[in-house]
Amino acid sequence: MYIGNLDSTISLLSEYEKLKTPSYMLDYINYRKSGLSLNHIIGCPLNCAYCVRHFWGNFDDKTPHMICTDEEAITSLLNHQYFIPDVTPIQLFNKATDPFLPSVKAHTFYILNSLDKKGLKNIVTVITRYKVDEEDMKILESLENIKLVLFFTYSGITESRIEPIAPFDITLNSIRIASKMRKKTKIVLYWRPIVIGWNDAEETMKKVLDVGSLCDGIVFTGYYHKEKNSKYIESLSVNTPYSGESFQRRKVLPQELDEKVVRLHRELKVETPLFRKTSCGASFVHNLPDYNGHWGINELCDICPSEQKKLCSSTHKKPSYSEMYDLLNKLNYKTHFIIDNGHIWTKGLGEEKRYHLQHILGFQVWDINLPHYEHQHGRGEIGFQQNQLEIENYLKMKKKFDEHSLQI
Ligand code: SF4
Repeated sequence: MYIGNLDSTISLLSEYEKLKTPSYMLDYINYRKSGLSLNHIIGCPLNCAYCVRHFWGNFDDKTPHMICTDEEAITSLLNHQYFIPDVTPIQLFNKATDPFLPSVKAHTFYILNSLDKKGLKNIVTVITRYKVDEEDMKILESLENIKLVLFFTYSGITESRIEPIAPFDITLNSIRIASKMRKKTKIVLYWRPIVIGWNDAEETMKKVLDVGSLCDGIVFTGYYHKEKNSKYIESLSVNTPYSGESFQRRKVLPQELDEKVVRLHRELKVETPLFRKTSCGASFVHNLPDYNGHWGINELCDICPSEQKKLCSSTHKKPSYSEMYDLLNKLNYKTHFIIDNGHIWTKGLGEEKRYHLQHILGFQVWDINLPHYEHQHGRGEIGFQQNQLEIENYLKMKKKFDEHSLQI
């Protein structure tokens, strides 16, 4: 199976090449749910069939290219309107490349070192499925200030049409090396995507949990069921997940899979804690409360270690009306809002501003038109029973919100 040219050096995109690149890809700093994400290198040869780059129009770009230099990227990040030193969680190269590809790795280290030398204490998340060797770990171990979390994407998929690198055990070897070498570096097994028919057999899941026991945390999540990646998967003649079901804005992880993961984790007595949310895993390994305020959606916390629950509950604070009002004014964000149990309803701010508020407050900030339902936070509808009472309650809240908006 073709994995692409892994030895290429990285060139800057020419102005002409930029014209042909989707604008979303050129936008190299985005505020995402798990942090402010820096992605000035785009392009990846690893060819994972479910890659999110399918729906961003970049999947065919197999060679990493730079949108700007590392120095320009760092300057933009540190001067970004959403960046708060020591507070804003940062993610590096998690949109359109792998940070440990041979040609990308030096840039990954350069950025990490630069942030570290500035004395910044932000959580920095790096997600890879590629080769991490002993020399790499020595470099990561030398970082002194940033709170690094190295996530390894591994889900037990063995089908090379879905993950061309799967048969080579590359990620497994990286996890073993990182787990052996780490002293300060925190490592998390990123168990994704979990998909019915691909990797949900008990034996497969047990193997993943076994690998997870080498790490400091395990985060599990689902699969993006979207038209473009679905069509691509269909073209590979492999089992297309959720075929015939409507496409979803959020990742799909049916309730039965969630329950199976939790059950096996308990049955196998895996000591490494399990989390449903990336930010929960990243916060836990640094002994911090979840910066996304997931404590407010308490059903997510049933699998969390009791010490971590204490930490999250003791720091989770519902903002007062005037605190929220003042914050919106200070940031010049225009929305009506209602403070509810565990979350604040807003309207039309867009994801980036909502995440900015959420990370400042450590409290969930939702959009009134994008509700979450019980046991389904951040997940698509497939594989869940819709609760009529909950839907009615949401519609009442929406009516209240809209009426209130009109009065302002
Ligand atoms: S207690 Fe809840 S919010 Fe806190 S890290 Fe655990 S799961 Fe996340």
